Amino acid sequence: MTFSAEADGALSPPLWLLAELTYRCPLHCAFCSNPVDYARHPNELSTAQWVDVLRQGRALGAAQLGFSGGEPLLRDDLEELVAEARRLGFYTNLITSGIGLNEERLTALKTAGLDHIQLSFQDSTRELNDFLSNTKTFDLKKRVASAIKAHGFPMVMNCVLHRYNLPHVDKIIDMALAMGAEYLELANTQYYGWARANQAQLMPTAAQLQEAEAVVNRYRETIGERCKIYFVVPDYFENRPKRCMNGWGAVFLGIAPDGAALPCHTARSIPGLHFPSVLEHTLRDIWHDSAAFNRFRGLDWMKEPCRSCDEKHLDLGGCRCQAYLLTGDAANADPVCDKSSNHEKVIQVITAAAMRDRTEQPITFRNDKNSLALSAKASH
Ligand code: SF4
Ligand code: SF4
Repeated sequence: MTFSAEADGALSPPLWLLAELTYRCPLHCAFCSNPVDYARHPNELSTAQWVDVLRQGRALGAAQLGFSGGEPLLRDDLEELVAEARRLGFYTNLITSGIGLNEERLTALKTAGLDHIQLSFQDSTRELNDFLSNTKTFDLKKRVASAIKAHGFPMVMNCVLHRYNLPHVDKIIDMALAMGAEYLELANTQYYGWARANQAQLMPTAAQLQEAEAVVNRYRETIGERCKIYFVVPDYFENRPKRCMNGWGAVFLGIAPDGAALPCHTARSIPGLHFPSVLEHTLRDIWHDSAAFNRFRGLDWMKEPCRSCDEKHLDLGGCRCQAYLLTGDAANADPVCDKSSNHEKVIQVITAAAMRDRTEQPITFRNDKNSLALSAKASH
């Protein structure tokens, strides 16, 4: 078995630990990356169990720590966990919708030593923000953004892009600049979780993406260092896959609310893999020895055409979740690659998107009722 992403035989530590504190969330985003069957995983680790995870993660070598969810602010112990993370020497990032981030909690999080906040918006307009999250939260989010800056936190504004809001990219950038965000992450939708359930509605056209990228580049030329804009073209529109997570089990370790350890936060979409729980195993054993983390490490697991491909060190065969979702076999080449015999499936999706009227079918919003219905349907 060749372990590291660089195929040099050495297994790196998990540099990036993501603590998904809860799947609960006051929003119902159409593109949420939480598992579609999240309602079947209602258990959450206790404060003491999370503290133990943080200690083990730091001892393994993790340096970056994200607190996410769901909405991590729904955990009353968030400040306690941030304080422990700070004591351990992590660089901490809170990934939040902003709902629940009031003056009192911002003060407490500052005192606890939180380093960074990533605040999500769904759009630059109230209408679309509130439609896509199925809530009335736009005005509140704007107030939260001001409060974050007033408390002196560096802020990433995050906006997931798709067919509905790509034409608003200029306004979204204007909003980030007006809010004083140091970074703007324009995250083109990845079609996992709820976004996969709504793929027909959310998939953009190639023309929309080209126009948005041109707008981003124009802003980059004029705004200088004021705000760093990240914009990555979604891989459905390219002919080589991304080096997903920098390799399976290479640098990323995610812990789901119930304690399942994941090599990627969407890995639960792959059936047949048993993701070990931190309630039963140490993080060291999970990272080094578990079957799930070793399943797609390195290059030895590859089938053709990846196995004999001279580009395999570059993209490591792409995304395992995408390979499963589009081909039914997670060990296949990511079908985004035009060397894959399944590449036609990707072409069909984007061709259909170009011809489709987005109002043809309703959006399935993320909520408990839809989660239980979709997971019941999937198990039949
Ligand atoms: S994407 Fe939306 S629904 Fe999902 S966790 Fe984030 S804020 Fe909540
Ligand atoms: S065949 Fe596999 S390794 Fe080669 S470029 Fe395509 S996805 Fe990457």
